[in-house]
Amino acid sequence: MCDSPEAKTQSGPPQPVAENRPTMSRRRLLGAIGVSATVLASADLLARESAAQAAPVTAGLSVTLLGTNGGPPPLAARFGISSALTVNGKTYVIDCGRGSMSQYVRAGLSLSSLAGIFLTHLHSDHTVDYFSFPLLSATTGVFQSTEVYGPGPAGEQSLVPSAPGPVPGTAAMTSLANQAFAASTTFFKAENIGADPASLVNVHEVMPPASAGASLGTPAPAMAPFTVVETSDVKVTAILVPHGAVYPAYAYRFDTDHGSVVFSGDTAPTPNIIRLAHRADLLVHEAVDLATYEQLGLPPALLAHLQAVHTDVSLLGQIAASARVKTLVASHLGPGDPAILSDAGWQQALSDSAHQADFRGGMILGEDLMKIPVRQR
Ligand SMILES: [Zn+2]
Ligand SMILES: [Zn+2]
Repeated sequence: MCDSPEAKTQSGPPQPVAENRPTMSRRRLLGAIGVSATVLASADLLARESAAQAAPVTAGLSVTLLGTNGGPPPLAARFGISSALTVNGKTYVIDCGRGSMSQYVRAGLSLSSLAGIFLTHLHSDHTVDYFSFPLLSATTGVFQSTEVYGPGPAGEQSLVPSAPGPVPGTAAMTSLANQAFAASTTFFKAENIGADPASLVNVHEVMPPASAGASLGTPAPAMAPFTVVETSDVKVTAILVPHGAVYPAYAYRFDTDHGSVVFSGDTAPTPNIIRLAHRADLLVHEAVDLATYEQLGLPPALLAHLQAVHTDVSLLGQIAASARVKTLVASHLGPGDPAILSDAGWQQALSDSAHQADFRGGMILGEDLMKIPVRQR
């Protein structure tokens, strides 16, 4: 089970540790021998990471919401969609929207604890900061390699005139990103600094089993969850979810000795989520408020599209009740801008939804850097 929302809220990043700050004399010394600001920053990061590595391993299970905004346009109030699950001191990042890596650090999570990255689907608001993890870690030696799980290529052709050919899956996306930043890596390596960023990620492309009968034309048939990976700390299963033209799009479930957590990814309402999330301790689910969009005067065609590819907040209580989850957290919020829909407005919509479905579990409005301890029921 989960603690009360009040107890879960961590408002603001941890304060920097004073003793990890470089002294002026060290800066002068390094400056005198020509070490660049970038390398100095990397050395600082490494020093902080070493301190973090020395910290005791935290037992148990928690989820930290790194970013809670839905959709690609940047907002001041919320970072892009990204969540972190920490179990037994190891951290898994689920989706890497705008600011994911910065928020990871601001949340006080250690890069040396990063054990895996999971991408639900390849929309830009879920992937834009993915390659930042290996790229910005390549000069520090903080971690040797981390596992990455994301959709494989489905075989469709690109609709981008300037980028023709087959649509890349997670492996090709990684390789192309590495190539795009080859100048930086080359310049660092010419001065004997850093590693090949691509060597810091071990990409596993996730495709549904053939028995699911899924395809571009049938992107989310009723199916059983399938295992993505199993370690001593966690078993991760996935299921296909319907998300417009996207294929494949996944929801992921993390089962641990301390509890279970499901991340819906982007999805229209689907029995597959109910099946995957059955009796989970925590369900992190996307949400749109269609009534607000309607009041904003969005064209009917756009409203119909949003309804077809996302889940209206009014349905979250019913989904939570049907799946019999302990607690639901609304994230990937649309609209995420409090000037359009305030937190109080979101809270009211969640409360109404739970009430209508007679859902008695927890309903939490996600906010950036909220840390949620999870306990098995
Ligand atoms: Zn999204
Ligand atoms: Zn999406």
